Amino acid sequence: MGNPHILAIPYPAQGHVLPLMEFSQRLVIKHGFMVTFVNTEYNHKRVVNAMAEKNHLGDQIHLVSIPDGLDPWEDRTDLGKLSEAIFRVMPRKLEELIEDVNRSEGDHITCVVTDFSMGWALEVAEKMKIPRAAFWPASSATLALIFNIPKLIDSGIINSDGTTTKSQLIHLAPNMPTMSTTNFVWSCVGDLTSQKIIFEVIVKNNNYLKAADWLLCNSSSDLEPAAFGMAPEIIPIGPLLASNRGQNSAGHFWQEDTACLEWLDQQPRRSVVYVAFGSFTVFDQTQFQELALGLELSNRPFLWVVRPDITQGTSYAYPAGFLERVAGRGRLVGWAPQQKVLGHPSIACFLSHCGWNSTIEGVSSGVPFLCWPYFADQPSNESYICDVWKVGLKFNRDERSGIVTQGEIKKKVDKLLCDENFKARALDLQEMAANNVKEGGCSDKNLNNFVEWLKA
Ligand code: UDP
Repeated sequence: MGNPHILAIPYPAQGHVLPLMEFSQRLVIKHGFMVTFVNTEYNHKRVVNAMAEKNHLGDQIHLVSIPDGLDPWEDRTDLGKLSEAIFRVMPRKLEELIEDVNRSEGDHITCVVTDFSMGWALEVAEKMKIPRAAFWPASSATLALIFNIPKLIDSGIINSDGTTTKSQLIHLAPNMPTMSTTNFVWSCVGDLTSQKIIFEVIVKNNNYLKAADWLLCNSSSDLEPAAFGMAPEIIPIGPLLASNRGQNSAGHFWQEDTACLEWLDQQPRRSVVYVAFGSFTVFDQTQFQELALGLELSNRPFLWVVRPDITQGTSYAYPAGFLERVAGRGRLVGWAPQQKVLGHPSIACFLSHCGWNSTIEGVSSGVPFLCWPYFADQPSNESYICDVWKVGLKFNRDERSGIVTQGEIKKKVDKLLCDENFKARALDLQEMAANNVKEGGCSDKNLNNFVEWLKA
């Protein structure tokens, strides 16, 4: 038998494709595996178009695609609709793909590694008698919450459709993030119909998990001891980051603007506020303009990622004269090489939406945070950052307008950067995360155990 051949299938979102691609690269570079990486057709085109060098992944990662069940022009930010389409079309397409690969010359698929949110792929693999693993690209705390859904229903905290009538704060265990019932991962995604569909999908995925031989998580036991203690079946193998290997991450949907690294080279050490909201967050015009004015008022250098689709509607407008006034100290990019940016010595702090990837990237770079969560697991990641690890500050919204004002932005930037304790704790946390992934660390050992199981 040749080297193991993994089929990796991420959920079709940027924050899921990047970590599973990193995982795949580890298996290829360190262990010589083959990987067939299955994106949806829609995302496959984006990934291929955004790659600066078309073959930089080498021959051992084969990028392929299957349809997601929506037409090319349909709205993929409607997650309820996307989930229904995926269920309708992808299982059959995946089975056909595996049959095709196994019929061809190369090695047969020896293991399917699927994102937890594509749990149906575990069922496909089981039916085809292929060993299988689930990959969870977010915090163990969020997965522990999902495992606790039956208890939450029994105790009346949520209804059987995931909705809740009473807003309350819960702690699954001491030293775990505070979670608000109105901000549960399924209850702040789209409208009520979407929320109910997503909840159903999560419950289904929980059941599919019974078919998994492994449940791997891109986190570490030292970052989340209480969560891993509650759910020992979740195996930490992270934080898996390309920056830990000194390499570029792969699988981006937008082309990275690497020129901003040269701009960072020219800024004083620990001076720049890095501002990025991941791949999904959108702003209304008022909040977008207030953020711009807040960065201006902070009077520090800043690097701000303004994705082409960051505002609701088709175009974004900066406040009058803003671009001219900040030209000397502000840099705007459409998509940054984020891991490299965070590791740059000129970065002072990370103003972030607290997606899990951004969270572990900031932690692994020893950078303190300003937290601006939007939805899904972001509020609970914010709680990790501010309440548990104490390496960041939250923004308060103006009671009347509901926005984060420019004054609040300036106040929190100053507060964070004038208190050295935040940086000191961030450096301690960085070391802890690094120890987990270095040779012999807990996450490293777990990943090696998985590799040995694959080879057996
Ligand atoms: N990212 C990037 N460049 C950017 C903004 C984000 O490479 O300008 C990457 C970031 O490093 C992270 C991912 O996109 O790996 C976003 O994932 P996250 O979980 O933080 O947020 P999501 O996009 O899922 O909301």
